[in-house]
Amino acid sequence: MKRYDAIKKIVESLSNEFIVCNLGAPSRELYNISDRDSNFYMLGSMGLASSIALGVALAQPKQTVWCIDGDGSLLMNLGSLSTIANNSPHNLTLIVIDNSSYGSTGDQKTYTSGKSKLEVIAKGAGFESITIIDKENEIIQGLKNLGAGCHFVLIKTQPGNAYVSIIPLLPEEIKTRFCKAMLNFRHP
Ligand SMILES: [Mg+2]
Repeated sequence: MKRYDAIKKIVESLSNEFIVCNLGAPSRELYNISDRDSNFYMLGSMGLASSIALGVALAQPKQTVWCIDGDGSLLMNLGSLSTIANNSPHNLTLIVIDNSSYGSTGDQKTYTSGKSKLEVIAKGAGFESITIIDKENEIIQGLKNLGAGCHFVLIKTQPGNAYVSIIPLLPEEIKTRFCKAMLNFRHP
Protein backbone atom coordinates (compact mmCIF):
# COMPACT_ATOMS: atom_id res chain seq x y z
CA MET A 1 0.00 0.00 0.00
CA LYS A 2 1.15 3.49 -0.82
CA ARG A 3 -0.03 6.74 0.71
CA TYR A 4 -2.47 7.33 -2.17
CA ASP A 5 -4.17 3.99 -1.45
CA ALA A 6 -4.38 4.85 2.24
CA ILE A 7 -5.94 8.25 1.54
CA LYS A 8 -8.51 6.61 -0.75
CA LYS A 9 -9.57 4.34 2.10
CA ILE A 10 -9.65 7.26 4.54
CA VAL A 11 -11.94 9.10 2.11
CA GLU A 12 -14.19 6.01 1.84
CA SER A 13 -14.45 6.08 5.63
CA LEU A 14 -15.65 9.67 5.81
CA SER A 15 -19.08 10.72 6.90
CA ASN A 16 -18.99 14.40 7.85
CA GLU A 17 -15.55 14.83 9.33
CA PHE A 18 -13.48 17.92 8.66
CA ILE A 19 -9.98 17.18 7.39
CA VAL A 20 -6.77 19.11 7.93
CA CYS A 21 -4.17 17.66 5.57
CA ASN A 22 -0.41 17.76 5.55
CA LEU A 23 1.27 19.84 2.86
CA GLY A 24 2.69 18.69 -0.46
CA ALA A 25 1.89 15.34 -2.02
CA PRO A 26 -0.65 14.24 0.64
CA SER A 27 -2.81 17.31 0.05
CA ARG A 28 -2.54 16.98 -3.72
CA GLU A 29 -3.52 13.33 -3.55
CA LEU A 30 -6.47 14.09 -1.27
CA TYR A 31 -7.59 16.91 -3.57
CA ASN A 32 -7.53 14.61 -6.57
CA ILE A 33 -9.29 11.74 -4.80
CA SER A 34 -12.05 13.83 -3.29
CA ASP A 35 -12.08 17.59 -3.03
CA ARG A 36 -14.52 18.94 -0.42
CA ASP A 37 -15.08 22.34 1.12
CA SER A 38 -14.43 20.64 4.45
CA ASN A 39 -10.87 19.73 3.44
CA PHE A 40 -8.19 22.15 4.60
CA TYR A 41 -5.03 21.72 2.53
CA MET A 42 -1.94 22.99 4.28
CA LEU A 43 0.02 24.53 1.43
CA GLY A 44 2.88 26.24 3.15
CA SER A 45 3.89 25.19 6.64
CA MET A 46 5.53 21.82 7.12
CA GLY A 47 4.74 20.18 10.42
CA LEU A 48 1.78 22.32 11.41
CA ALA A 49 -1.19 20.27 10.20
CA SER A 50 -1.59 18.58 13.58
CA SER A 51 -1.38 21.89 15.44
CA ILE A 52 -3.98 23.47 13.17
CA ALA A 53 -6.23 20.44 13.53
CA LEU A 54 -5.98 20.70 17.31
CA GLY A 55 -6.97 24.36 17.15
CA VAL A 56 -9.96 23.55 14.96
CA ALA A 57 -11.05 20.68 17.20
CA LEU A 58 -10.86 22.81 20.34
CA ALA A 59 -12.64 25.76 18.74
CA GLN A 60 -15.39 23.61 17.16
CA PRO A 61 -16.11 20.91 19.74
CA LYS A 62 -19.29 19.75 17.99
CA GLN A 63 -17.43 18.85 14.82
CA THR A 64 -15.17 15.90 14.26
CA VAL A 65 -11.72 16.65 12.90
CA TRP A 66 -9.34 14.26 11.22
CA CYS A 67 -5.78 15.32 10.62
CA ILE A 68 -3.89 13.53 7.87
CA ASP A 69 -0.24 14.00 8.73
CA GLY A 70 3.01 12.43 7.56
CA ASP A 71 6.00 10.97 9.34
CA GLY A 72 8.41 13.65 8.11
CA SER A 73 6.10 16.49 9.10
CA LEU A 74 5.27 15.05 12.50
CA LEU A 75 8.97 14.51 13.21
CA MET A 76 9.39 18.25 12.63
CA ASN A 77 6.76 19.09 15.25
CA LEU A 78 6.86 16.36 17.88
CA GLY A 79 5.82 18.84 20.58
CA SER A 80 2.40 18.83 18.97
CA LEU A 81 1.85 15.30 20.29
CA SER A 82 2.17 16.44 23.91
CA THR A 83 -0.01 19.48 23.28
CA ILE A 84 -2.73 17.35 21.70
CA ALA A 85 -2.56 14.57 24.31
CA ASN A 86 -2.75 16.99 27.22
CA ASN A 87 -5.65 18.95 25.76
CA SER A 88 -7.20 15.68 24.59
CA PRO A 89 -10.19 16.98 22.62
CA HIS A 90 -12.94 14.38 22.25
CA ASN A 91 -13.29 15.09 18.54
CA LEU A 92 -9.80 14.75 17.06
CA THR A 93 -8.12 11.87 15.28
CA LEU A 94 -4.53 12.29 14.21
CA ILE A 95 -3.88 9.94 11.30
CA VAL A 96 -0.20 9.66 10.47
CA ILE A 97 0.61 8.04 7.15
CA ASP A 98 4.10 6.75 7.79
CA ASN A 99 5.93 5.92 4.58
CA SER A 100 9.33 6.39 6.23
CA SER A 101 10.20 9.05 3.69
CA TYR A 102 9.98 12.72 2.83
CA GLY A 103 7.76 11.98 -0.15
CA SER A 104 7.24 15.50 -1.43
CA THR A 105 10.96 16.20 -1.77
CA GLY A 106 12.06 12.97 -3.42
CA ASP A 107 11.56 10.12 -0.98
CA GLN A 108 14.58 10.72 1.21
CA LYS A 109 14.37 8.41 4.22
CA THR A 110 13.07 9.73 7.53
CA TYR A 111 14.09 8.41 10.91
CA THR A 112 11.03 6.19 11.08
CA SER A 113 12.98 4.05 8.61
CA GLY A 114 15.55 3.75 11.40
CA LYS A 115 15.02 3.65 15.15
CA SER A 116 12.16 6.10 15.72
CA LYS A 117 8.64 4.82 16.29
CA LEU A 118 5.97 7.51 16.19
CA GLU A 119 3.36 5.34 17.91
CA VAL A 120 5.71 4.89 20.88
CA ILE A 121 6.41 8.64 20.99
CA ALA A 122 2.66 9.30 20.85
CA LYS A 123 2.08 6.89 23.74
CA GLY A 124 4.76 8.62 25.77
CA ALA A 125 3.26 11.98 24.93
CA GLY A 126 0.03 10.84 26.57
CA PHE A 127 -2.23 9.49 23.84
CA GLU A 128 -4.41 6.78 25.33
CA SER A 129 -5.85 5.57 22.05
CA ILE A 130 -3.27 4.30 19.61
CA THR A 131 -4.04 2.23 16.53
CA ILE A 132 -1.54 0.81 14.08
CA ILE A 133 -2.71 -0.26 10.64
CA ASP A 134 -0.50 -1.83 8.00
CA LYS A 135 -3.06 -3.42 5.71
CA GLU A 136 -5.15 -1.44 3.26
CA ASN A 137 -8.26 -3.52 3.90
CA GLU A 138 -8.15 -2.73 7.62
CA ILE A 139 -8.29 1.06 7.30
CA ILE A 140 -12.05 1.54 6.97
CA GLN A 141 -12.94 -0.70 9.89
CA GLY A 142 -10.06 0.67 11.94
CA LEU A 143 -11.33 4.22 11.58
CA LYS A 144 -14.97 3.24 12.13
CA ASN A 145 -14.07 1.52 15.40
CA LEU A 146 -12.67 4.69 16.96
CA GLY A 147 -15.76 6.63 18.00
CA ALA A 148 -15.46 9.83 20.01
CA GLY A 149 -12.14 10.61 21.62
CA CYS A 150 -8.63 11.79 20.95
CA HIS A 151 -7.00 9.15 18.79
CA PHE A 152 -3.61 8.50 17.26
CA VAL A 153 -3.67 6.28 14.19
CA LEU A 154 -0.52 5.20 12.40
CA ILE A 155 -0.93 3.81 8.90
CA LYS A 156 2.24 2.18 7.66
CA THR A 157 2.78 2.43 3.90
CA GLN A 158 5.45 2.13 1.24
CA PRO A 159 7.13 5.28 -0.11
CA GLY A 160 5.94 6.80 -3.37
CA ASN A 161 3.75 9.61 -4.65
CA ALA A 162 0.86 9.44 -7.10
CA TYR A 163 1.14 11.50 -10.27
CA VAL A 164 -1.59 14.03 -9.62
CA SER A 165 -2.15 17.66 -10.51
CA ILE A 166 -1.46 20.56 -8.20
CA ILE A 167 -4.25 22.16 -6.21
CA PRO A 168 -5.65 25.09 -8.22
CA LEU A 169 -6.85 26.98 -5.16
CA LEU A 170 -5.30 29.93 -3.39
CA PRO A 171 -4.58 29.51 0.32
CA GLU A 172 -7.18 32.21 1.07
CA GLU A 173 -9.82 30.30 -0.91
CA ILE A 174 -9.03 27.10 0.96
CA LYS A 175 -9.30 28.85 4.30
CA THR A 176 -12.46 30.77 3.45
CA ARG A 177 -14.43 27.83 2.13
CA PHE A 178 -13.29 25.64 5.03
CA CYS A 179 -14.49 28.22 7.55
CA LYS A 180 -17.80 28.60 5.66
CA ALA A 181 -18.28 24.84 5.66
CA MET A 182 -17.82 24.85 9.44
CA LEU A 183 -20.29 27.68 9.94
CA ASN A 184 -22.86 26.07 7.65
CA PHE A 185 -22.48 22.58 9.12
CA ARG A 186 -25.74 21.09 10.37
CA HIS A 187 -25.50 18.20 12.73
CA PRO A 188 -27.40 15.11 11.64
MG1 LIG B 1 6.42 10.54 4.75
